[in-house]
Amino acid sequence: MKAYDLHCHTWYSPCSNLNPKLALKLAKKRGLNGIAITDHNEIKAAYQISKLNKDKDFEVVIASELSVNGGHLTALYINEVPKKLDFFSVVDSVRSQGGLLILAHPYDLTRRHFNKEFIFKNKKYFDGIEVFNSREIFHIFNKKAENSRKELNFAAVGGSDSHFSFEVGRTKTFFEDNLYKSIKNKQTFVSGTNLYGLPGHFFTRIHKLLNKF
Ligand SMILES: [Zn+2]
Ligand SMILES: [Zn+2]
Repeated sequence: MKAYDLHCHTWYSPCSNLNPKLALKLAKKRGLNGIAITDHNEIKAAYQISKLNKDKDFEVVIASELSVNGGHLTALYINEVPKKLDFFSVVDSVRSQGGLLILAHPYDLTRRHFNKEFIFKNKKYFDGIEVFNSREIFHIFNKKAENSRKELNFAAVGGSDSHFSFEVGRTKTFFEDNLYKSIKNKQTFVSGTNLYGLPGHFFTRIHKLLNKF
């Protein structure tokens, strides 16, 4: 059984100060077999970390969290950030790159999110849904995502949404053998904690104030 954290930011995201090198070190230290680097509309750190990683038994998934219309989507296994960030351009781009499109924190009322009607109407375009995101302070948001996963028969995906060192690896997505195939075949499961979510949001707020973002 392998465990990946599929939602991690670095200092290439304006809301994070995490050194990409440290993200890789912590991921290994916390027992992960892989990590998806999902900076906002950015892919540089993912490539950097991928190059830094010399461990054949550890996978760095090139990814990005895309700000698309009303919500956030993580695109896994992409080579470049889609040029246009409207929903259908993103779907076309990610598909043509052979990537996977995941709904990130889909029902979080405190952050950008799609509405349920949109998700259900466009269900054929999604490969998975985040059923646990460690930055969900209220369990109800993760619970709602899990309910939709069941209704829509999506693959379960989870990630820490880490922006600071103490958050890395706090949610894990488990699977056998190969992540891409496991998501396609809906053979993943997720376990995590949101204990670090509130301090994480607080640190992001301070970081943005200090850096005037
Ligand atoms: Zn987000
Ligand atoms: Zn995020």
